[in-house]
Amino acid sequence: MNMNTREKPAHTPMDQFPSAGRELLVGGIPLERLVDRVGQTPFYAYDRELLTRRVAELRAALPASIKLHYAMKANPMPAVVSHMARLVDGIDVASGGELRVALDSGADPHEISFAGPGKRHAELRQAVAAGILINIESFREVAELAAIRQATGLPARVAVRVNPDFELKGSGMKMGGGPKQFGVDAEQVPELLAEIGKAGLAFEGFHLFAGSQNLRPEAIVEAQRKCFELALRLAESAPAPVKFLNLGGGFGIPYFPGEQHLDLSSIGANLAAIAAEAGEKMPHAQIVIELGRYLVGEAGIYVTKVLDRKVSRGHVFLVVDGGLHHHLSASGNFGQVIRKNYPVTIGNRMDQPAAESVSVVGPLCTPLDLLADKMNLAHAEPGDLVVIFQSGAYGATASPRGFLSQPDLLEVLV
Ligand SMILES: *Cc1c(COP(=O)(O)O)cnc(C)c1O
Repeated sequence: MNMNTREKPAHTPMDQFPSAGRELLVGGIPLERLVDRVGQTPFYAYDRELLTRRVAELRAALPASIKLHYAMKANPMPAVVSHMARLVDGIDVASGGELRVALDSGADPHEISFAGPGKRHAELRQAVAAGILINIESFREVAELAAIRQATGLPARVAVRVNPDFELKGSGMKMGGGPKQFGVDAEQVPELLAEIGKAGLAFEGFHLFAGSQNLRPEAIVEAQRKCFELALRLAESAPAPVKFLNLGGGFGIPYFPGEQHLDLSSIGANLAAIAAEAGEKMPHAQIVIELGRYLVGEAGIYVTKVLDRKVSRGHVFLVVDGGLHHHLSASGNFGQVIRKNYPVTIGNRMDQPAAESVSVVGPLCTPLDLLADKMNLAHAEPGDLVVIFQSGAYGATASPRGFLSQPDLLEVLV
């Protein structure tokens, strides 16, 4: 068989952003005009309408009784969090700093929850004062919260974050099963629940989060079912009825060639079955799923300008004004084992064929500063605009922005 005739897997089309003539449109605005409006490159732009549409589509695919939380560490830009807070039922925070942004957004404190393996005393005190739900992840946190309750006279609302006794198959980043710093091992949970009862904390439920960036519906279905069954078992030792059952999320989005959008139909059907069973066996429980990347990832782009076009021994390099210091994930250095290209385009040459194989590199003095490796793109010159899609999650705040003291990025919600 001739290897050259075999089709290389392609990126799934990034048709959430339309184009008009030669320009990509963001929130209906042609890209060059948006660059003028922002006042500089590089920047991240997030499309408000795409965020709104995503939540609506997800709600349509899931049973109405399931509550939807936004895990804001995926994109903590205050304007994005405020927009999301109006669309979802609650916000999940992972630090005291995120809690402040979530409270500013107007989210109902009753529907904010806080998870993270190393919560400081001051953060726990912030959480109690705000009246949010704290996902307990250690015996130390029980003792600290008991002291805070005594000192403030305020109730401490808690759920137990469980490290399940299984793993999420097919997950890009495993966060449960085996030895983990997250949550409390399922085997230790009955003892922890007894401590919570003795300390007089207000027990409200369980939180299980098995992993991130999963594109296999059958694996998500299996994890949610196993999480539910584990919660039913653990509820037998609980000091109070379960009011919140957070089954995590981990829904992935397509980044790399050959990856497809997640099919939600079996996940929705499974959650409907779980909700029906919970109605009988856990009648006070509100079932929650929490998603970060899935809600915001596809609504964002990173825009960087070509500074130089160099040919080295026959290979074209487009040197751009942004790089791994702004977009670590696209460089392949944030959790990827084998580097693969994000979907990339030349945003002011959308009408031209992807006729040239090039590498897009940043200005940093390291070969790791690679945004696209030998990718077919439209012919580009200095001044043209390189756009990286699927950049709405784990972009700006997941990047080492101080590295090499380059100018900082901007972020806009359009
Ligand atoms: C990071 C995280 C999330 C969000 O994960 P995504 O893959 O972005 O959806 C949800 N819950 C917890 C506890 C997390 O740590």
